[in-house]
Amino acid sequence: MAAVRLTGAMAWRATRAETSRILSAVAADIGRRREQRGIRRRGPVHARGVRSDLHRLARAARALGLSSLSSIVLRMAERLEPCLRAGELGRRDAEVLRRLAEHCRRYLEDPTDVKAAAAMVDELAADPLPAAGRWERSHLLQGAIEEGAEAAGLASGGANGAGYDRLTGLLDRNSLHAALREILRAAAPARAPVGVMSIGILGVEDIADSLGPGAATAVATRVAAELIRSVPGGAAIGRVGPDHFVVACSGLTTLELTEEASRLAALICRSYRISSHPVSVTARIGMAMAGQHGRSVAQLLGNADAALHDARARKLYTTQFFSPHMRHAALRRVSLEAQLRTAIERGSFELHYQPKLSLRTGRLCGLEALVRWPAGAQRHIPPAEFIPIAEQSELIVPLGDWVIDAACRQMSRWRHAGAPGVPLAINLSAAQLCSQHTQERINRALQAHGLSPHMLELEITESALMRDAGAALRCLNELGRLGVRLAIDDFGTGYSNLSRLIRLPLAAIKIDRSLIAAIATHARDAAIMRAIIDLARTLGARVVAEGVESTQQRDLLAAAGCDEYQGFLIAQPMDATQLEAWLVRHTLETRLA
Ligand code: C2E
Ligand code: MG
Ligand code: MG
Repeated sequence: MAAVRLTGAMAWRATRAETSRILSAVAADIGRRREQRGIRRRGPVHARGVRSDLHRLARAARALGLSSLSSIVLRMAERLEPCLRAGELGRRDAEVLRRLAEHCRRYLEDPTDVKAAAAMVDELAADPLPAAGRWERSHLLQGAIEEGAEAAGLASGGANGAGYDRLTGLLDRNSLHAALREILRAAAPARAPVGVMSIGILGVEDIADSLGPGAATAVATRVAAELIRSVPGGAAIGRVGPDHFVVACSGLTTLELTEEASRLAALICRSYRISSHPVSVTARIGMAMAGQHGRSVAQLLGNADAALHDARARKLYTTQFFSPHMRHAALRRVSLEAQLRTAIERGSFELHYQPKLSLRTGRLCGLEALVRWPAGAQRHIPPAEFIPIAEQSELIVPLGDWVIDAACRQMSRWRHAGAPGVPLAINLSAAQLCSQHTQERINRALQAHGLSPHMLELEITESALMRDAGAALRCLNELGRLGVRLAIDDFGTGYSNLSRLIRLPLAAIKIDRSLIAAIATHARDAAIMRAIIDLARTLGARVVAEGVESTQQRDLLAAAGCDEYQGFLIAQPMDATQLEAWLVRHTLETRLA
């Protein structure tokens, strides 16, 4: 079987002859493997091969304008997805796939045959999927397609699969560049408009966290299928990240591209059934038009990505065109990252400290360390701006190390100076939480400064904890074994899974300041605050209210049985010297009271 490579100027578009070769190779090999009758165990990699071949078939059919055929192949791919994910195909599935491949091949000669193929897939689709283990598992087809594909040079990996995304069979980043270059070249003589859509799928990470990486992969496959099915013929479709797709097309005006993007977003934003779980995703689409938003391939793709980034961050619009301020924002992110790197190398950060008081006694019961980046002549850059950049670039690990060391050093100084021995809390990001390195760093810093682990509290946001609650539980248990105390930060803003929450060894729950803000004015917020206090009681954890700014809020919290509070009502975060002066004043005031 000849190697099938989609080469040359029309790299993203299979020709009729190539489609025919793909179909023949698949069908012939299935036939050959059936003859051998052997039942072989195949790994999940083979399922990827089947999936990728089906998607490539669909793409080839669509590129030839055979959209109904493309839909049928995709329906088949969708139907087989649970079996492919389980790494198993029933004998009947194998048979139907073989017949489908034959129908596809014949369809190229006789278009009426597609009706028979459609009827067959529909009939099959009406059947409930076999429960795993119910049918005899042959693994025949997986082996057949994978080996046939390898023999035919269709394998999704390796040299012959180069240029394609292994999972979906869509273009990879390099081929996408080539395809867009070709679209621009072809559109130039007639001055046809060329547009790029950068499509981000939101919610895939959460699906991976809750149902496992396989489920996220399955969703990406479904989205790819939706795009292949829906995108106008002649467009290039690529997958450039786990939840990031790009469509480039010509012939659509700015308005038409916007309409097309909204239509695609609506098609993608739906509920998918993955391993009998309904899951849903949403999409954001950044757009760029050649000419207006860039001339080169790199500019167009970069600007569509910048528009996507903006749409994701602002969460206002589903689709959004590039505008130059987005490039500025992207440049600022890049520049901040570079500055952050230098600042980390030089250790040019400071820790500020904010006190927490007991609502019962009014006494100091803890401190929170908050990192500050005094960036020279520039304006003050708040943690809300640089922590996410540090998290995205993994600079959070060295920055976090600096915070751990600086906090322990300061605690030790205060201890030697005879300051009140209250626990000091530091904030940990999700990436730090589960790193063995962080655990060792904490242990070493505590030992180096002769501190008891009980003096250190780690604040981890609710969303970081719930992102991978299983792993978080393991890491928190390890950290807990060190003896450090654990607090859940910004509680009430994420989506906590209560059954997981009760298994976490939590010392404290910090109610997010957005919930505290309205407790004095909105009965519903006050009720939520009371419910969180009850929940914390049940879990045996202390409750700390964040962002308390008024005496009214403080009194309501005290009446509801909240343990501690923190906020501008007490003091803004201060550097070590200011805090020492504040401590003296506070100690005097409480003695006098
Ligand atoms: P957080 O841990 O929830 O810290 C509380 C934030 O609320 C601080 O903002 C604090 O200055 C602010 N705040 C305290 N009381 C009040 C109040 O009464 N009203 C208002 N409006 N704000 C109040 P900051 O220092 O800008 O830090 C923001 C976030 O950045 C922190 O939220 C934390 O998630 C993160 N962060 C800060 N330092 C670190 C760090 O060292 N490591 C990591 N991973 N994250 C950090
Ligand atoms: Mg905090
Ligand atoms: Mg907080």
